[in-house]
Amino acid sequence: MGKATGFLELDRQDRSYADPKERLTHYKEFIVPLPEDKLKAQASRCMNCGIPYCHNGCPVNNIIPDWNHLVYEGDWKNALEVLHSTNNFPEFTGRICPAPCEASCTLNIDDAPVTIKSIECAIVDKGWQEGWIEPQIPLHKTGKAVAVVGSGPAGMACAQQLARAGHSVTLFEKNDRMGGLLRYGIPDFKMEKDLINRRLMQMQAEGVVLKESTEVGVHVSMESLRENFDAVVMSGGAEEARQLTIPGAEKSGVRLAMEFLTQQNKRNAGDDEMRAAPRGSILATGKHVIVIGGGDTGSDCVGTSNRQGAASVTQIEIMPKPPVRENKALSWPDWPMKLRTSSSHEEGCERDWSILT
Ligand SMILES: Cc1cc2nc3c(=O)[nH]c(=O)nc-3n(C[C@H](O)[C@H](O)[C@H](O)COP(=O)(O)OP(=O)(O)OC[C@H]3O[C@@H](n4cnc5c(N)ncnc54)[C@H](O)[C@@H]3O)c2cc1C
Ligand code: SF4
Repeated sequence: MGKATGFLELDRQDRSYADPKERLTHYKEFIVPLPEDKLKAQASRCMNCGIPYCHNGCPVNNIIPDWNHLVYEGDWKNALEVLHSTNNFPEFTGRICPAPCEASCTLNIDDAPVTIKSIECAIVDKGWQEGWIEPQIPLHKTGKAVAVVGSGPAGMACAQQLARAGHSVTLFEKNDRMGGLLRYGIPDFKMEKDLINRRLMQMQAEGVVLKESTEVGVHVSMESLRENFDAVVMSGGAEEARQLTIPGAEKSGVRLAMEFLTQQNKRNAGDDEMRAAPRGSILATGKHVIVIGGGDTGSDCVGTSNRQGAASVTQIEIMPKPPVRENKALSWPDWPMKLRTSSSHEEGCERDWSILT
């Protein structure tokens, strides 16, 4: 624990966003990072709890109190090593993870958790800037070959770990670019795709063979994978969208989020959006948009519609409006049901609840 009284002396301070008027003119990330001195001060708020609930709240069990301490001490390089010991891609999670660690943080009982996600992102961004992140080429090869099917974050992390353990890994992806929903679902304004490309280059240097535009079951059979590899990892994600089974859902203006979002990400990358457009291209420009579903994917559709210049955006949700502040006695340290207002909502959107479409 860097500073015993840090949490008593300092208020929580987090990253800010660029002005909505400015950020709506492009699809780039718009988070304004905290300067290094402020990050160190924020890291000093960590109490190094006897039971670090943050650590348990994190799905990959990031060793949060340790890197908070190291950042407070200014030892960014070791902080990066501790962070990488549990997390292959902290620059992804530092941008788009919903941060259940912060909900679990003991200081969240007072609504002022440690700014864990921002500190995580700063550690890894600094690591890349300083050139500390290099390919980790295995010293010994095992002679075993593994096929990983599906290149979302699960497949990428799996392929990287297996290659570092000395196996010969081939990563198969049916789309023309690697990354799964990170690449095609999550809008660029939440996470720019160069971050994925940079990791893929690191993975190639570590020996991972990337096979894009190769659908297992179509271009390569499962039998051939079984013949040519010692093990096969299935990391194909969950691609079947939930359909809206009501009259009118088949009309041309009613589209699934993943058609809409993928097309925009492809446009941004300069790719052929029609490859993701079985029902034709769609743009919200000048249109009145209703987003059905009040979750994060819906919120991404709000942000994308506003960037495309929609005339209006309304998001509707089947559940009742949740409370602004959760009942901590009932929810902490678990993930609370509460009203969440995303950066996309702040950019302009009407929201309504308890609506069955
Ligand atoms: C719009 C949207 C926004 C999201 N935002 C966030 C967020 O902000 N924060 C967050 O934490 N999570 C977010 N998520 C969830 C997150 O993206 C997923 O949980 C995560 O990507 C799942 O990873 P995965 O590797 O299991 O699968 P996926 O990312 O789905 O990757 C699976 C890959 O397997 C490939 N594949 C499937 N079958 C085959 C085959 N037969 N041959 C070859 N390749 C195949 C697919 O093409 C795909 O590329 C979001 C999801 C969506 C849809
Ligand atoms: S729960 Fe919060 S204060 Fe406690 S160790 Fe984790 S980050 Fe630090």
